[in-house]
Amino acid sequence: MPASAPITQDLVTIPRKPEETGRMNLVGLTRPALAEALRAAGTPEQQVKMRAAQLWQWIYQKGVRDFDAMTNLSKAYRALLAAHFCIALPEVVSRQVSADGTRKYLLRISGGHEVETVYIPEEDRGTLCISSQVGCTLTCSFCHTGTQKLVRNLTPGEIVGQIMVARDDLGEWPAPGRNPKVETRLLSNVVLMGMGEPLYNFENVRDAMQIVMDNEGISLSRRRITLSTSGVVPEIARAGAEIGCMLAVSFHATTDAVRDKLVPINRRWNIATLLDALRAYPKLSNSERITFEYVMLKGVNDSDADARRLVQLIAGIPAKINLIPFNEWPGAPYERSDWARIEAFADIVYKAGYASPIRTPRGEDIMAACGQLKSATERARKSRAEIAAEAGLPG
Ligand code: SAH
Ligand code: SF4
Repeated sequence: MPASAPITQDLVTIPRKPEETGRMNLVGLTRPALAEALRAAGTPEQQVKMRAAQLWQWIYQKGVRDFDAMTNLSKAYRALLAAHFCIALPEVVSRQVSADGTRKYLLRISGGHEVETVYIPEEDRGTLCISSQVGCTLTCSFCHTGTQKLVRNLTPGEIVGQIMVARDDLGEWPAPGRNPKVETRLLSNVVLMGMGEPLYNFENVRDAMQIVMDNEGISLSRRRITLSTSGVVPEIARAGAEIGCMLAVSFHATTDAVRDKLVPINRRWNIATLLDALRAYPKLSNSERITFEYVMLKGVNDSDADARRLVQLIAGIPAKINLIPFNEWPGAPYERSDWARIEAFADIVYKAGYASPIRTPRGEDIMAACGQLKSATERARKSRAEIAAEAGLPG
C-alpha cells in the first residue's frame, strides 16, 4: 500500500461503562466459573444453571452490557447482578482504518497496558487477528513484537474482549431473534497471530477460545479459529486435546542452523522434534491442514534449495504453506525477498503438491501487517513521554 494512501484515524467514543472497582467482570469467565460467581452472589441453587445460560446469551450473543436491559431477568435479580458484577471490555484508545479496509485497534487493558487487534476483511470472510500477551518472551529476530519484553499474559476476558470490541465497531450484534449465519458474518474467523505466543498463555487462551466456540457464546466453529505458535512443542498436543482449533506454525527455515537464528525456540525444540509434534496433531486431513508460515527474508531462507528441503521435511503432513513477504519495521535486520524470488519459491512448493498462497500484506499503511504490531504502542508511549518532557515532568 503506498504511503500516501488515505488513512482515517480517530479516537473512538464508543460509550463504555467504566470498570467499577470491586465488581467482578463477567466477561471471560468459563461457564462453571460464571455459575460459581452467581452462586456466591446469592443466586438460589436451583436457578444457577438457568441464570448462567441467560447471562451468557446476553453477553456473548446479544452484546448487552447493561444488566437493566436483560429483560428476561426480574428487576430484583438485575439489581443483585449490578451490585456484584460488571461487563467490561478493553478500552479503545485508537482505531485506524487502512486504505484496504483493514482496521487496527489499540486497546488499553488494566494496568494501563496496551495491545493491538487487527480486523482484515476479505471477500469470503472477515478475520480478526488477536493478541494473547503484552509483548512476548521469545525473541524471533525478524519480529517487531519480539523486541518488546513480555509485560504480562492477557486474561481470558481480555482475549474474548478483543472480539467483542471488534463486533461493537463492526455493528455486528444480531437484532433480537436473529443470529446470522456465520458465512455472512463480518467477523467470521479468528487467528491468534497478534502479539505474543499463545501457547505460553495456554489456560487463558483455552478458556477464551471455549467461549468463542460455544454455541451459545460467540459461536464460531473450531475450524474458524487458527492458533499460531512458534513451536512450543509440549503444548501442541495439549492444544489439540483441549482446544481443537486449527494450528499454524511459524516455521520460517529448513535447517536448524538458520531456524536457531530466526526462531530461537528452535534451540530448545528443533525442527525434527517440532515435526513429530505436528504429525501427531489430531484430526489432520485434507480439509484440516496445518498452516506452515514462512516469512520470506532476502538471501536468508528463500533459495530454491530451501523450497525443496521444505517440501521434503513436511512430507506426509496435510499442510498448506503460507508465504509471508517480510514486513519491514524500523531497525529490522532483514529485507523482504524480491517478488520474483517469492514466486519461484511458491512454484516449487506448489508443484510438490502443497497450496502455497503468498500472503498479501494488509494494512501496511497503518503498521497492521504481520510482525509490525507494537509500533502504535511505541508511538503512543513516545508521545506521552514527549508530552511529559515538555511539561517538565518525569516521563
Ligand atoms: N507468536 C506466534 C503468533 C504471532 S506472530 C507465532 O510466532 O507464531 C504471527 C506470524 O507473523 C508468525 O508466523 C510470525 O512469525 C510472523 N511474523 C512476525 N514478524 C513478521 C514480519 N516482520 N514480517 C512478516 N511476518 C512476520
Ligand atoms: Fe513472539 Fe511470535 Fe514474534 Fe516470535 S514471531 S517473537 S513467538 S510474537
